[in-house]
Amino acid sequence: MGESIRLVARAVEFAAREHRRHRRKDVAETPYINHLAHVAHLLAEAGCDVNVVAAGYLHDTIEDVDVTFEQLVAEFGEDIAELVRSVTDDKRLHWWARKQAQIDEAEHATARVAALKLADKVSNLCSLLEGPPKGWDEREIARYVHWAHEVVSRLPERNEVLMGRYLEARGALLG
Ligand code: ZN
Repeated sequence: MGESIRLVARAVEFAAREHRRHRRKDVAETPYINHLAHVAHLLAEAGCDVNVVAAGYLHDTIEDVDVTFEQLVAEFGEDIAELVRSVTDDKRLHWWARKQAQIDEAEHATARVAALKLADKVSNLCSLLEGPPKGWDEREIARYVHWAHEVVSRLPERNEVLMGRYLEARGALLG
């Protein structure tokens, strides 16, 4: 138990430090750590193991703030680093190719990776409800909701608690 708490506390600290200058794209420019905390909290509520919860805090470090896979292995071990890598988009691809890759890769996700992907989508849909990125209109929002569903519907395993949250947020956005 003590070990788990220390691990999550280290992940929080690491994520807060690495993302310190990173903001969401909404008008309020919400600090990025809010999204990470939301994803981790969703995973904890859904009954995921401690490494998945820690990966919730760390899931955007390789993609968005140039932390390397090797750095994550050194700090948090192979399992957490692999979890983060599994939800990292390949930045060499164009935006649309990255989006397509998420759809194509969804069906190969393990249960733990599927939970991470689903929690990330839930948090992003909640962000769209609270305040969409600057310049996004209804069409842009609808496009994102549609794309997220393409990914989620291909996940081989869908955590029930997270799925409940997902359908709630999706319903609110489409309603
Ligand atoms: Zn994310």
